[in-house]
Amino acid sequence: MQGRMMFQPLLISSLIEHAARYHGDTAIISKNTDGTITKTDWTHVAENSKRFANALHALGLKQNDRVATIAWNNHRHLESWYAISGSGMICHTINPRLFPEQLIFIINDAKDRVILFDKTFLPLITGVKAHIPLVEHFICLGAFDQDVADALPDVKFYDTLLAEQSTEFEWPLLDETTASSLCYTSGTTGNPKGALYSHRSTILHTYAICLPDSLNLSAHDIMLPVVPMFHVNAWGTPYAAAMVGCTMVLPGPSLDGASLVQLIDEFKVTIALGVPTIWQGLLTAAKQSGTQLNSLKRTIVGGSACPPAMMKAFKDIYDCETIHAWGMTETSPLGTGNQLKAKHDQLSDAEKFKLRLSQGRPPFGVDLRITNQEKGTHQLARDGHTTGNLQIKGHWIINEYFGKNESALTTDGWFDTGDIAALNEDGFLFLSDRAKDLIKSGGEWISSVELENIAMGHPEISMAAVIAANHPKWDERPVVVAIKTTESQITEQDLLDYYIDKIAKWQIPDTVIFVEAIPLSGTGKMLKKDLREKFGDVLLGS
Ligand code: AMP
Repeated sequence: MQGRMMFQPLLISSLIEHAARYHGDTAIISKNTDGTITKTDWTHVAENSKRFANALHALGLKQNDRVATIAWNNHRHLESWYAISGSGMICHTINPRLFPEQLIFIINDAKDRVILFDKTFLPLITGVKAHIPLVEHFICLGAFDQDVADALPDVKFYDTLLAEQSTEFEWPLLDETTASSLCYTSGTTGNPKGALYSHRSTILHTYAICLPDSLNLSAHDIMLPVVPMFHVNAWGTPYAAAMVGCTMVLPGPSLDGASLVQLIDEFKVTIALGVPTIWQGLLTAAKQSGTQLNSLKRTIVGGSACPPAMMKAFKDIYDCETIHAWGMTETSPLGTGNQLKAKHDQLSDAEKFKLRLSQGRPPFGVDLRITNQEKGTHQLARDGHTTGNLQIKGHWIINEYFGKNESALTTDGWFDTGDIAALNEDGFLFLSDRAKDLIKSGGEWISSVELENIAMGHPEISMAAVIAANHPKWDERPVVVAIKTTESQITEQDLLDYYIDKIAKWQIPDTVIFVEAIPLSGTGKMLKKDLREKFGDVLLGS
């Protein structure tokens, strides 16, 4: 016998309808590409998304067609997302910081028919245009602009297209498993691969990230997603904001610390989300300006490990909780978020801090396990210290890569993340490293993340990456590549001494290389592969 309750497919269009109907006057603040600020609200975002859905239909686009975006976090980009997915097309967000060859590859692989772009990325578009023959329409996210029109014949302008269309649009009643959006992995090895999300996976993920033990989002919040909409859909925040009806402050192209401080203070942001390198810039700028970031209650840190010093600075100086979260493109992205449980109230502050540094525990809807590194599916103990392959399954976890036609899962149906980690009995995740970043010294593993966290705890180090350098006797040994804070006099020996008593003696890095800058990926992660190429042989002598 079946239940006698309504069945409604879980669709992205219902999010924008809900936001418009019940939170219509809630503000959406958007920094434009030219630096001006636009203030709009959910009513107008919804109206414009319907106008743009009409425009896409008028251009001849059909269900399942791929519409790509190369854009900052701004209100036009937000409107276009709802228009594209809501009307059954697939929103393909592209990371503009990819190399041109990778850009060409993913645009052709996705068979994008349309590219929406912010003016910033005009040179990028004109540079690759000759190599992406399947793209029929280029739409600049803004009003008519003569420079853009001169550089790109036949370009269309978003504002002009909207002006020609009505706000009357009936969202199609799609099957909830219809594809809604497409993000490519960063492809540090080989070509990038596409993760193709569905309406159903997106809605279930959205419920999960709003929960109190995840981001704890509500209609009280003013959310600043610094994480770009091209990095796993800004971690799902544009959907979550519509679900709970909170304000969004979209930072546009200004992701430097000073601009973020200004946005937080001016618009009274309560929750901000981004990768550690972004927060490093914010903390430096906040210190310089003397602000207390009074409105900010929570920062969500993910994408790479949150350094303990960062979590401490947010708490001690700004009374702001840091929620450490873990995920990946293939997991929509939320896999875990760190909120303690009632039983942890009795822990000492030091014990609580230690637990908060872990990547947290899974919400309902995903499951985690750790397996033996050699025997892929043999499950290991959840004892908080046994490490192995981190594997995941759940409603918003990849099944197969876009266009690959083969399972991406283990023989027993789990996705192997490529991360090495331990789980404790409550499911708290302690990530030691990416499998490829671990350092194998004389047959023993050393976590590069642990060594980085210690270096970043030194007050005179602003950023540190630890890489495996080739070694004639031990195969590999750790080497720290670090950036000093301005005016610091720290020496190599000072930093090496700083490791004493914080880690086993044999794990202390062999040497320190001070640099002016560490290369970052398009999503703000340290490009350790590039550092290994540059410094991988420093211990081999000449
Ligand atoms: P991406 O798909 O580009 O977002 O990268 C996903 C990878 O980022 C994961 O497999 C992890 O290696 C890393 N990552 C994400 N969040 C964290 C975190 N909180 N701590 C450490 N590594 C993380």
